[in-house]
Amino acid sequence: MPQSNTGSDTINASTAVESVNATIAEKQASASPAGIKHHAAFNWIQSDHIESLNLTLHKYQHIKTAALHYHLEAENAENVFLVAFRTVPTDSTGVAHILEHTALCGSKKYPVRDPFFMMIRRSLNTFMNAFTSSDWTAYPFASQNKKDFNNLLDVYLDAVFFTRLDELDFLQEGHRIEFKEAANPDSELEYKGVVFNEMKGAMSSPVSVLWQEVSKYLYPTTTYHYNSGGEPEDIPALTYQQLKAFHHTHYHPSNAIFMTFGDIPVFEHQEKFEQQVLLQFDRLNETITVAPEKRYLAPLAVEEAYAYDAVGDDTTEDKSHHVMSWLLGPCTSLDEMMRANLLSQVLLDNSSSPLRQALEKTDLGAAPSPLCGLEDSNFEMCFLCGIEGSKVESAKAFEQLVMKVLNDVATKGIAEEKLEAVLHQLELSQREVGGDSYPFGLQLILQGLTAAIHRSDPAALLNLDPVIETLRKDIKNPEFIKNLVRDLLIDNQHRVRLTLRPDERLSQRKEAAEKARLATIKAALTDKDKQNLVDRAAALALRQTQQDDPGLLPKVGLDDVPAELKIPQSLEQKITGSTATVFQQGTNGLVYHEIVSELPQLSETETSLLPYYSSCLTELGCGEKDYLQMQEWQSSVSGGIHASPSIRAHTDNAQLSRAYYFFSGKALQRNNTKLAALMSTTLNQVRFDENARIAELITQMRTQRERSVTGSGHTLAMTAAASGLSPIAALNHQFGGLVAIKTLKALDDSHSDAKNLSATAKHFSDIHEKITHAPRSYMLVLEADKQKNTLAEFETVWTPQSEKSASAFVLPEANVQIKQMWIANTQVNFCATAYATVTMEHKDAAALSVLGGFLRNGFLHTAIREQGGAYGGGATHDANIAAFKFYSYRDPRLSETLTDFNQSIEWMLNNSHEKRQLEEAILGVIGGMDKPGSPAGEARTAYHNALHQRTREKLQDYRQRILAVTLPDLKYVTEKYLKQGDANTAVITSSATLETVGDLGLEVIQL
Ligand SMILES: [Zn+2]
Repeated sequence: MPQSNTGSDTINASTAVESVNATIAEKQASASPAGIKHHAAFNWIQSDHIESLNLTLHKYQHIKTAALHYHLEAENAENVFLVAFRTVPTDSTGVAHILEHTALCGSKKYPVRDPFFMMIRRSLNTFMNAFTSSDWTAYPFASQNKKDFNNLLDVYLDAVFFTRLDELDFLQEGHRIEFKEAANPDSELEYKGVVFNEMKGAMSSPVSVLWQEVSKYLYPTTTYHYNSGGEPEDIPALTYQQLKAFHHTHYHPSNAIFMTFGDIPVFEHQEKFEQQVLLQFDRLNETITVAPEKRYLAPLAVEEAYAYDAVGDDTTEDKSHHVMSWLLGPCTSLDEMMRANLLSQVLLDNSSSPLRQALEKTDLGAAPSPLCGLEDSNFEMCFLCGIEGSKVESAKAFEQLVMKVLNDVATKGIAEEKLEAVLHQLELSQREVGGDSYPFGLQLILQGLTAAIHRSDPAALLNLDPVIETLRKDIKNPEFIKNLVRDLLIDNQHRVRLTLRPDERLSQRKEAAEKARLATIKAALTDKDKQNLVDRAAALALRQTQQDDPGLLPKVGLDDVPAELKIPQSLEQKITGSTATVFQQGTNGLVYHEIVSELPQLSETETSLLPYYSSCLTELGCGEKDYLQMQEWQSSVSGGIHASPSIRAHTDNAQLSRAYYFFSGKALQRNNTKLAALMSTTLNQVRFDENARIAELITQMRTQRERSVTGSGHTLAMTAAASGLSPIAALNHQFGGLVAIKTLKALDDSHSDAKNLSATAKHFSDIHEKITHAPRSYMLVLEADKQKNTLAEFETVWTPQSEKSASAFVLPEANVQIKQMWIANTQVNFCATAYATVTMEHKDAAALSVLGGFLRNGFLHTAIREQGGAYGGGATHDANIAAFKFYSYRDPRLSETLTDFNQSIEWMLNNSHEKRQLEEAILGVIGGMDKPGSPAGEARTAYHNALHQRTREKLQDYRQRILAVTLPDLKYVTEKYLKQGDANTAVITSSATLETVGDLGLEVIQL
């Protein structure tokens, strides 16, 4: 799916007051025909039972204000709430985004500066956030604890409907000018503001620029033309008055959609909505909508630039992106949407799909663009495809390539089995219960939200079974796909070919323009203006250090923490002579297979190639079949197969480790045997002789990794900083860190010599030989009533193997000091330090884990985000690698942040702290441990933990120790590990910053 311009704001927090509400209005209840009681202030509109998801969706409308409420009634204790508003900005000042931030800065009932972050710390939430999308803004949260849910509901409702919108908050969160030395009117002026900096960081990602530029041309007249997050050049134009006016018309119940999921009765939700909010509003006669886009009568071809800061001897010659995009019909028509979805999948689903195949194989670019697929969240959908790592002059050839593929499909059609496979994929994703990244209920809510925002029916979007049945009939007609590709794409004149080329001077020019602008402003300042700026900066700084009374907010406490960890139980079985671990979980008709081997010892080269072998294993040919045929096979019977190592340290010694190799797959229950056959064939017959395919896969991985720096720079920096502390830490750096990016680049470049490519293929084959002969066991996740058949079918495929005994995978000890500055193509910085600590079983581990949250809540959040202007910052303990780590994310500063890390240690040691802060930090750690996952994900986690000797007893004991941590414990571990310890440092920055600030005494490494 293409990346949309959703500005997702990750925030962190934790507390608890009494949840007030004695239910006054039991008598105000009404009932729908289905017998579900709802509040009399609402009309029941409709109810739809969705069998494939095992839930019922009820729709209600508030009588007085016309606010909508969708309730997904499900037997799930992880309740979810979301309130969304249609927000359709008509410029790129980021008004919707800045409002989203400012709304969370205090409200009528909760007049504290930062209720959102304060609540994160006083809660057992499993999710809290706020999003600004291209045409909506939403405030969601989730919790498994009812008291906590109601606390959060109370704060959220007050925040969005009765926000204070203080001008100082607008200045802090939005934008302002300040003197570089805040009290010195002779120093230069600079722009500040959380959103201003956030968007500078976000728009330094080429993919964000690419999406923004595509939208700009594809949607010439509607709200999607603009960047709803805000363009750094346009943000300073927004005034406080404009922000308030936008709030008045957009954050009103008449423009609001409430959505809830879970087992709390709908009446209880509506009672709170009515009493706390809706009672106090009348209907607003203003309808916020998006009009259909004005259509182009001929295709457009355009070229734009993105800032590229070359690293080392990099050239910009092959750093261009080309994207083709088509504007399609409205997403409110379910049929139209599903047909577009089908076509998109037919063209792009996997490497054997015609368009993806062409984009992967072409020499015009290194890899398919990250913007490939159907974007169906805007009112009118669009389809995109593209390549990256291309030359600017290849634009036309790229377009010809794409049009040729489309014309081929229009003439020859697509074989029915392939269309069946695509419908099979839709069916599988409809059934699969998620919840590993977002709470499952929130996933469903977000899936239905687009329809609700555009005033169509979320139930239809959530219940795909009937539509899939219709499509199944449609594809019987051989003309169906041919007509679809003609109508939607070939004959569609509203299409844009965009080329995004690198410009090495662009960031300099932007910076110069910003400086010039500020100089002009400064020249026009009177003495009085200057004094005002100085005073305002002082007022803001004072306000940032002011401590609000947390007692104003509701909270949950340690008493509300469940006593026991919830870990799924497994059963041990014997299958084909090996151990099989079976988990019975509510998987909604899916089965999950894992083949687990003990990882044998590998040579140094083999170890370094292990991640790339793993990525290639399921992408190659097997036996008589080439990789294209294997891709088709996978798509027709499975929801994907994957391979990866799992290597973790002992719980009592970070220098020792255990290593396994996992080969996993999932499928609909009816394809259980077929999944087993597919996986067995892959493992037993994979061929490492398709060298061109291997080379192409490595190139794709390289472009993907190179792109990852602006998104996960903090993780990369922490991984680098900790890499000298233990063997696993070193391996993490080698497998997924900055070193891995360097290794991949070198590997990819080396493949221009065919001899090297053959050598890589040979290494893959050698690794495979070792892994397949290692002792093996199995893990299955299935539904209880299907167990007998599932296992019997499984056993018909997997027969006993001959095992060779081999020595186990052992890593060399690691203990080196790291002081590194990595130079990358980035306009923002990432800082990290790491200290050696202990593993889970050590008595200090619990206090170190609590310390991470304690330092973030009490010091780092204010110093690095609020005052320093970074998007985020904090500290965390990683018991697996025995390291305590500090980090900053999308940071305008460098050495000042490293100083802040040190100051937090002094702050910890030299101040007396409150019990409340301790409780908040403990809640944070426990909340993380108790976060639910998907049914299959929870089983997988339990299995991995057991394999790596993280037994139920050890985990439960660790949890008890966390709950028992005291303030003196925190000071003790700070003194012992951080004060006495040696800081390992790694920062990621640009060559421009290196020129201005120097190397800070660090070893400079070009990425
Ligand atoms: Zn934001």
